Amino acid sequence: MHTQVGIIGAGPAGLVLSHLLHLKGIESVVLENRPRQYCEERVRAGVLEQGTVDLLCEMGVGERLKKEGLVHGGIELRFGGKGHRIDFRELTGGKTITIYGQSEVLKDLTNARLAAGGQVYFDVDDVSVHDFVGNKPKIRFARNSKPEDLTCDLIAGCDGFHGICRPAISQALTIYEREYPFGWLGILAEAPPSSEELIYAYHERGFALLSMRSPQLSRLYIQCSPEEDIHLWPDEKIWGELHKRLESTEGWKLIEGPITQKGVTGMRSFVAEPMQYGNLFLAGDAAHIVPPTGAKGLNLAVADVRVLAQAIVEFYKSGKRHLLNQYSATCLRRVWKVQRFSWWMTSMFHLFPDASPFDQKRQMAELDYVTSSRAGAQTLAENYVGLPM
Ligand SMILES: Cc1cc2nc3c(=O)[nH]c(=O)nc-3n(C[C@H](O)[C@H](O)[C@H](O)COP(=O)(O)OP(=O)(O)OC[C@H]3O[C@@H](n4cnc5c(N)ncnc54)[C@H](O)[C@@H]3O)c2cc1C
Repeated sequence: MHTQVGIIGAGPAGLVLSHLLHLKGIESVVLENRPRQYCEERVRAGVLEQGTVDLLCEMGVGERLKKEGLVHGGIELRFGGKGHRIDFRELTGGKTITIYGQSEVLKDLTNARLAAGGQVYFDVDDVSVHDFVGNKPKIRFARNSKPEDLTCDLIAGCDGFHGICRPAISQALTIYEREYPFGWLGILAEAPPSSEELIYAYHERGFALLSMRSPQLSRLYIQCSPEEDIHLWPDEKIWGELHKRLESTEGWKLIEGPITQKGVTGMRSFVAEPMQYGNLFLAGDAAHIVPPTGAKGLNLAVADVRVLAQAIVEFYKSGKRHLLNQYSATCLRRVWKVQRFSWWMTSMFHLFPDASPFDQKRQMAELDYVTSSRAGAQTLAENYVGLPM
């Protein structure tokens, strides 16, 4: 098999890249080692920046997103039992975020790729990358237990944090990493969201986040130990903890419902530099991870492939590699700003096990500043809705 761009991974990065290239007449093959249903049912991100929504709509995959997505003009920061709204529209000149699950984004993208005759192969095995330093890169994989070779001009490593592309160029990479001494216990509950907008709560028992996926589905998180055993958390205990951490003196009520999914996620900040080696380009979680507090993982993956698609289009149009050579540096400027924001949000809201009383007073002062100063609130709002491309 031969194609122009071989893409590994059918997550947001791989599918957006494949579709952007298709719209410019460039052929690609996407190889994914999980079944389609598994990819489309995985509960992960849910907050889309304005720029991500605009891009998906421009690509022609925004029809359901526009109909079913919940547009939010702000978030609430809750501490000391009181809520403080950060008004995105007012602070950013009308920008918003949209709540629409990653699983729904993936369904829309996969349907669009397949409807356009795109080649997306799910459930492949033994994927490996070869000869990407020269001009004839090759991807080996097995389909229905039969080994195959895919030759291509360029390889896009969109295979997430546990993929094979980053390890294949590990000798060329510098890794920057920070692990956090806590994780998130997250639930999906069949309950209407208890608030129209997301609530980020700072509490002496630990951070809590109220989010949602639809008018019928709530997504809630509590800070926990990174090694927390989910089996020690029956549903009543989770709701009890959420009530305590989200408590409010303003007559607000948390709505409960059957919990349909629960799990513990560790938190880390991670960047691999550069995001390119020869004709292999890393994008999304394959190159970087952010703690989820800033809701940036999916958005950053989409921002990477937007840059990569432009560079690939220029390469095929003019034969010039200028934008391809700039790819890593261009992306990393945004990646580090998003890392800074995600680290800042995480540091502001979570209890650190080694925090001193000084640290806790400083955290409260920071929350007070962000919610009482226009400049402070604007910094949060501008980053949350997404920095300009
Ligand atoms: C539990 C969890 C909760 C999260 N919650 C949030 C959130 O609330 N907000 C937020 O913004 N972000 C969240 N994220 C992060 C967000 O989901 C990711 O940043 C986003 O999915 C990145 O997209 P991607 O395409 O780069 O990688 P992925 O979505 O990881 O896609 C990579 C794809 O490559 C495939 N793959 C891996 N190895 C191979 C291989 N060897 N061969 C072929 N295919 C391979 C994988 O199966 C996967 O489908 C969460 C992540 C996790 C794990």
